Amino acid sequence: MTPAVSRRKARARIDLRRLGRAALLGPASRDRLPDAISHVVDAHRAHHPDADLEPLRRAYVLAESSHRGQMRKSGEPYITHPLAVTLILAELGAETTTLTASLLHDTVEDTDVTLDQVGEQFGAEVRFLVDGVTKLEKVDYGAAAEPETFRKMLVATGNDVRVMSIKLADRLHNMRTLGVMRPEKQARIAKVTRDVLIPLAERLGVQALKTELEDLVFAILHPEEYEHTRELIVDNASRADDPLAEMADAMRKVLREADIQAEVLIRPRHFVSVHRVSRKRGRLRGADFGRLLVLVNEDADCYGVLGELHTCMTPVVSEFKDFIAVPKFNLYQSLHTAVAREDGQVTEVLIRTHQMHKVAEAGVVALGNPYAPPAEEQAAAASDGERADPTRPGWLSRLLDWQEAAPDPDTFWSTLREDLAQDREITVFRPDGGTLGLPEGATCVDAAYAQYGEDAHACIGARVNGRLATLSTVLRDGDTVQLLMGQDPASEPSREWLEHAHTPAARIAIQRWLAAHPSQGDAPGAEETRVLFRPTGDGSVGQETAAEGQAFRPAVEGPAGRYATADVLVDQPGATVRLAGCCTPVPPDEVTGFSVRGGVVTVHRVECAAVARMKSAGRAEIGVRWGDTTECRVTLVAESFVRPHLLADLTEAMALEGAEIVSATVEPPTQQRVRHTYTVQLPDAALLPGLMRAMRNVAGVYDVSRAQPQMQGA
Ligand code: MN
Repeated sequence: MTPAVSRRKARARIDLRRLGRAALLGPASRDRLPDAISHVVDAHRAHHPDADLEPLRRAYVLAESSHRGQMRKSGEPYITHPLAVTLILAELGAETTTLTASLLHDTVEDTDVTLDQVGEQFGAEVRFLVDGVTKLEKVDYGAAAEPETFRKMLVATGNDVRVMSIKLADRLHNMRTLGVMRPEKQARIAKVTRDVLIPLAERLGVQALKTELEDLVFAILHPEEYEHTRELIVDNASRADDPLAEMADAMRKVLREADIQAEVLIRPRHFVSVHRVSRKRGRLRGADFGRLLVLVNEDADCYGVLGELHTCMTPVVSEFKDFIAVPKFNLYQSLHTAVAREDGQVTEVLIRTHQMHKVAEAGVVALGNPYAPPAEEQAAAASDGERADPTRPGWLSRLLDWQEAAPDPDTFWSTLREDLAQDREITVFRPDGGTLGLPEGATCVDAAYAQYGEDAHACIGARVNGRLATLSTVLRDGDTVQLLMGQDPASEPSREWLEHAHTPAARIAIQRWLAAHPSQGDAPGAEETRVLFRPTGDGSVGQETAAEGQAFRPAVEGPAGRYATADVLVDQPGATVRLAGCCTPVPPDEVTGFSVRGGVVTVHRVECAAVARMKSAGRAEIGVRWGDTTECRVTLVAESFVRPHLLADLTEAMALEGAEIVSATVEPPTQQRVRHTYTVQLPDAALLPGLMRAMRNVAGVYDVSRAQPQMQGA
């Protein structure tokens, strides 16, 4: 065993010996807390000063008496294990219910205590948690790295993240005390920890547990690299100069002079982090062994600190990431930046509030009961202070927002479960330098909702790394994503977006919109892979199947739409007129009409293939003619060579001619050629020739034409 691990274990053992001795003395009298849980109580009180300690005392008494006589492999009384697990959780700020269940977590599995007994003595919530941990023990980790394993785990826990918290702490204590196992068993347990528990800790935001687990796994699975890393750290500690300390001092001075209250702390990197950095940068310098953490009181102070550091020191701007405006997926919030010293050494800086820090360290462990409805929460806050956890307004409220926005609780929990089941997180960049944290497998749809919330309904397309991409494009870590937003206030998401939405934020926003608009967004998405811009679906360009004359995409229409009856005069009183999407007639085109469902008359150009088909099917024509309005809507096809910025140049040229783009599709480029199809609204049909000329003048465009009338159903 390496010295560092021995040291860590020695430290853990000292605590455990003390706990074990206290445990052997037996439970204390009823009126005072057993000594053995005094550490737990102290840690719990530090986070929750008004917590009722009685359940902890009773849980300890039951756990101790039922485990009595059982020994850990190390020879210590078994009770030392639940005590140590509970201490880990108490130090992270877990609430009393979680700690009570944690003390009891192995009783049902390993002793005569029954679940019913736990329920009778500690209530349904504790029973539920103990049951979840017991079931979780039975989850097969065979396909360890599979997201499916997470799903199984979450199902096993009844979707309660508190069960996960207990499981993580349980695993941490078992890893700390793994030295007593045979090496093969150590390796096997370490691998499962690496493949399942560490990703889980990351997803649940429990940084403190994640980093310690990583180092423990590292020591077991890569003992040589671990030893090498340890030597690097020891050597660095013995160096005379300490650039991190110097930078911290300089930073404190800058912030003091700016009158910003802030704590500047040095955060040494954990072993795995040092190892990663050394792999990335080669020889390490002093500033590489840690990061500076600036803690402030208010959110706004974070930006104040950032401003001072960027003004008074030498920032490395490319390192700046705003995880406050756009929190990472596990709800972590911080500003990240870096500053350079005169000797070129770069120091990474994390800026966050105390509350953000607590969430960053403890993640879900500080969550409390995610199921308590807000009213109950407030009542509880008033009575015991437990619910007044300052981390809640941030990330818990976001969870609760999702829950509120979700059409039903099942949707919420299934999306959260999917979210937690995601393997890894990626970071993508916005053109403005900001970043978005997304789960692996996220698409442009997810990026749109992460960035714009419900306004993403108006998203019409995306560029990934400067190139046009479909909204279904799966993003990779480090991609730059530019989202193209439409101006149409009546924008709606497309149902097929659901298939490409992986994040709860996106799924819930889309589902919520669909729930509120039951008859809309039902486009079958036949040409989905070709759609870059989605149809706006304001009804006026609803595509039709020519044979049926039935709206492909039933949508808002009628007098409120742009194609009000005033534009077209129709020989059928009270009819709603719609211009056919297949041939997009424009004045002065020769037109004819057909009556379709719901009193709607669709207007086609007379040469449209659909007209011939409907006539041969015996459908009666209805007389239509253009009204006085000169406004028109037309579909244009631009053929061009592929080049960067083509889309931007083309749409800009169109806008300059007064055209409003209603919808567009871009087919995947073939042989360096690409076809754009735009439906545009023009204030005057007379502008059409000028518009087409302007489009042809855009570099790379070699042809612009009206959409062919027979394009549908051929
Ligand atoms: Mn256990």
